[in-house]
Amino acid sequence: MPAKRFTPRKMAERLVGFDTTSAKSNLDLIDFVEGYLHGHGVPARRTVDATGRKANLFATLGPEAAGGVVLSGHTDVVPVEGQPWTSDPFVAVERNSRLYGRGTADMKSFLAVALALVPEALAAGLKVPLHLALSYDEEVGCLGVGDLIADVKAHLPPPRIVVVGEPTNMQLINANKGIAGFETRITGKEAHSSQPHRAANAIIAAAKLIGFLASLAEEKRQAGPKDGRFEPPYTTLNVGTVSGGNALNIVPRHARFAWEFRLVPGDDGDAIVTRFRRFAEQEVLPDLRRAAPEADIETKALAQVPPLTPEPDSAAEALVRRLTGANRAETVCFATEGGLFQEAGFSTVICGPGSIDQAHQPDEFIELAQIEACEAFLRKLIAWAAEG
Ligand SMILES: [Zn+2]
Repeated sequence: MPAKRFTPRKMAERLVGFDTTSAKSNLDLIDFVEGYLHGHGVPARRTVDATGRKANLFATLGPEAAGGVVLSGHTDVVPVEGQPWTSDPFVAVERNSRLYGRGTADMKSFLAVALALVPEALAAGLKVPLHLALSYDEEVGCLGVGDLIADVKAHLPPPRIVVVGEPTNMQLINANKGIAGFETRITGKEAHSSQPHRAANAIIAAAKLIGFLASLAEEKRQAGPKDGRFEPPYTTLNVGTVSGGNALNIVPRHARFAWEFRLVPGDDGDAIVTRFRRFAEQEVLPDLRRAAPEADIETKALAQVPPLTPEPDSAAEALVRRLTGANRAETVCFATEGGLFQEAGFSTVICGPGSIDQAHQPDEFIELAQIEACEAFLRKLIAWAAEG
């Protein structure tokens, strides 16, 4: 591909045009970005998932040296199914000084600005390397970025700082809640619905378990540990999906639901899981097994994302403060890949354009002014990296 140039806005439109819903392949987008970088003489490394349908991409601008700054973002977006969109979610359109489209806020605009500024970064004569890190499967539990981090650690001079460009309205963020997700499957025993005494109703068991989670959530809200830096300041629980059963007149054999909690620092996630398992085994399973000795309740851990914790004397925080003029760091409640970068030993903060209020919503949008603010921020970063 010849060296193409894009404005940040045009690049954002291009990226939104790829339907990278987490359940689908992101390779069209990765191919496009790799080709674009290649056109500018920038090689990129892929790390590919087991299916070969998804890839991370990592590229270095400037010297192949340690101590660089990683600009990190996920390429996947959440589904649009069932949401009332005014226009095609995968065609970015401007209305009222906003750019609408799935991923405009979360978080293709950040990637777009970083990519659009690649020619400027290359022309600036960087002394400190700037890296671009694009991941897959963030929205389904930060599943992709681990391989990218491992690849960087194994093969490249270590970066020092990571800026994750999740939508924070360009505010500096140094902490986010961690997340732990689970799937619980209930196996009961079916029967004609006129014979419930011969059956074990998996959906009713699921309802009891979900009710227990709801009471735990209420307990956390009222009496759990509080951390006033977060909104809300307590550990939250959510049941996100539930399914089961085949017909009204069959006692259902199967039910399943997915649930998660988001922990404030100092709360004990293992204790939540232990209480849930004890309730399942002591209060729910015995009822099921009266009619069906084979009945079972299994809970499997899904993604576990560590929290981002404020670092003492954080290099990332110092850099972003200097570039943005921010005099304080905030916190957010949504989980990010930041905790994984931090766990790997890189100084990490979150700072990106757009608002989380618009993320995952129908008619997701970003204010064009936010794209401009991000552009100004990254230009300062380029100038800083060129000074060395
Ligand atoms: Zn995101």
